Amino acid sequence: MSKNKSGESVKVVVRCRPLSRKEEASVSAGGIVAMDLRLGQVVLRNPRAPPSEPQKTFTFDAVYDGDSKQRDLYDESVRPLIDSVLAGFNGTIFAYGQTGTGKTHTMQGAWMDPDQRGVIPNAFDHIFTHISRSQSDRQYLVRASYLEIYLEEVRDLLDPGRALELRESPETGVYVRDLTSCVCKSVKEIEEVMNSGNRARAVAATDMNEHSSRSHTLFLITVECSQPGPDGREHIRVGRLNLVDLAGSERQAKTGVRGERLKEAAKINLSLSALGNVISALADGRSGHVPYRDSKLTRLLQDSLGGNARTVMVATLGPAPQHYDETLTTLRYANRAKNI
Ligand code: ADP
Ligand code: MG
Repeated sequence: MSKNKSGESVKVVVRCRPLSRKEEASVSAGGIVAMDLRLGQVVLRNPRAPPSEPQKTFTFDAVYDGDSKQRDLYDESVRPLIDSVLAGFNGTIFAYGQTGTGKTHTMQGAWMDPDQRGVIPNAFDHIFTHISRSQSDRQYLVRASYLEIYLEEVRDLLDPGRALELRESPETGVYVRDLTSCVCKSVKEIEEVMNSGNRARAVAATDMNEHSSRSHTLFLITVECSQPGPDGREHIRVGRLNLVDLAGSERQAKTGVRGERLKEAAKINLSLSALGNVISALADGRSGHVPYRDSKLTRLLQDSLGGNARTVMVATLGPAPQHYDETLTTLRYANRAKNI
């Protein structure tokens, strides 16, 4: 199999949410993030530095400011990846960033408002529109699964309960044993799958805020297309789409945390740092050793990162000065993910 041309297989984009009303009231000097949408640049102002200190500038495949629309991000940065999944390739979209910066807003948004639908509901529309317009000799099968990784344990959000195991087979690669997979025939059906997973998650969590900042969710869509080839036999293509809302990237291990809580904190950071290492190994072309096995998340996504697969990383930021350090960390992480 030929590799994607460099720069095509991974896109890194940055989105900055607007100041919240509460932040607006307390921030006199305005936000610390400025963007040049045309150049794809982010300029970060250090609120503690003297004005003479040069500001830090980062360049990405695209940047989205507080006025950007869900639809713009989808059309420019996500649509080509979904098209390649429909053509039988694997693709992964990550939302990475500090808690409260808009990961879930970007991935899900507000479903009922057509202008607020995020990446996932837009992908549902895209996939089923494509299928309804396709040639009649093509047969599609769409399946959806929904899982979360919490403290390095994989849980099925469509059948909550015990932790599931990762397995590997030569035919299918790495997979989750006994994971529920729902056949979906319409946007409405796949939305119901997502809603039921979201409800299960909310019910299981004692503190949903804390829970969602510490767990990774993966909504997995498999699109299978069969079509008779020139030889008259059925040819099957399978594309796999991973839609990942990562745990909050903020440093978990606050001083004074010990024992069980410290161990938990280490596990939460594990998947994020392993993901950073995998992406940077791919970016450097050190594909001889890509440390996929270092975390559940990277193992699970092994067949969807690198090679012919496409990846979009959406790094989310907030503009408030008090989060300068975390914002810089997010920009550095995103920067490291470029140039696969
Ligand atoms: P995260 O999932 O990263 O913790 P959320 O998506 O829950 O963050 O966003 C936190 C809050 O900010 C929510 O109230 C959300 O509606 C709002 N928000 C996030 N991104 C945007 C945006 N681009 N425009 C407007 N509001 C946003
Ligand atoms: Mg969230």
